[in-house]
Amino acid sequence: MAKKERLVAAIQNGTVIDHIPAGKTFQVVNLLGLTTLETPVTIGCNFESKKLFRKGIIKVEDKFFTDEISRLSVVAPNIVLNIIHNYEVVEKKTVITPDELRGIVKCNNPKCITNNEPMDTLFHVVNKENGILKCHYCEKEQDINKVELV
Ligand code: ZN
Repeated sequence: MAKKERLVAAIQNGTVIDHIPAGKTFQVVNLLGLTTLETPVTIGCNFESKKLFRKGIIKVEDKFFTDEISRLSVVAPNIVLNIIHNYEVVEKKTVITPDELRGIVKCNNPKCITNNEPMDTLFHVVNKENGILKCHYCEKEQDINKVELV
């Protein structure tokens, strides 16, 4: 068996999340709430990658993601989800940045109402290509790569 195959053992059914920038693997775990799942989850960090210097891979057995994958665009827009049925990749989904991000990232304006009241944040993605978000409440623009997660 090739070395690569041993590192990432196959799963029968589920989702393999690939091309995660190495330093962001655990942010992905948090965003998808993987620590609360009851199905087996395998988290791999620092694999060699042609596209990225090092990448993370997460395998989640018997779980198929839907809307929550748009959250991943906050940490890494180029993540690929491989949908596995019967050990075969039946679909590859790429993460698409949504038009709005609700309750996912913090506003970096300390005076913003969302930092002073118990409420969800809401951002409009005003420039998807460059990852520019605009706070719905204080209208401050911020870089998607620099925001903190809620
Ligand atoms: Zn704000």
